[in-house]
Amino acid sequence: MAIGALFDGSLRCGFTPLFFFMMIRIGIGTDLHRMTEGRPLVLGGIQIPYHAGPLGHSDGDVLIHALCDALLGAMALQDIGYHFPDTDPAYRNADSRLLLQEVMGMMHEKGWQPVNVDATVHLERPKLRPFIDEIRTSLASVTGMAVDEISVKAKTGEQTGPVGEGAAIEAVVVCLIQRVSVD
Ligand SMILES: [Zn+2]
Repeated sequence: MAIGALFDGSLRCGFTPLFFFMMIRIGIGTDLHRMTEGRPLVLGGIQIPYHAGPLGHSDGDVLIHALCDALLGAMALQDIGYHFPDTDPAYRNADSRLLLQEVMGMMHEKGWQPVNVDATVHLERPKLRPFIDEIRTSLASVTGMAVDEISVKAKTGEQTGPVGEGAAIEAVVVCLIQRVSVD
């Protein structure tokens, strides 16, 4: 049976799962930066002690950039490059938490709020495990979410490819958002 037929049938009998689905959306965001000697390593707004960090116009926070793209994607509001172009000097070395704050403002305006976030950071070195809870707390403070609604995982590149060779850092973020008001 086609999905459309399933919905038609359920709507006719008074049960409206379609309404439920319209209140929830999913988004995905990815980001990658080149690792460069002497740059600060900032992830989720936390500075992690290391001799190299992401090259970028802003602070190169791949986790926040991917999170912004996931939230914008869920709202179908384009991407971080559209809203915060790297040709704009205002974002030079910018604290990416400010970009995330702006995205949260857009969510509020459009009547959405995040439900949960699941993130994976791909990085060969340093080990992120000691910093994971601090990163989650940082993201919770910017988004207004509870810490237990934010998952941050870390994976190495198994010494292969740009991540594994220490040449790149990458993040993948999936988020769920729910409508809280109609604009
Ligand atoms: Zn980025």
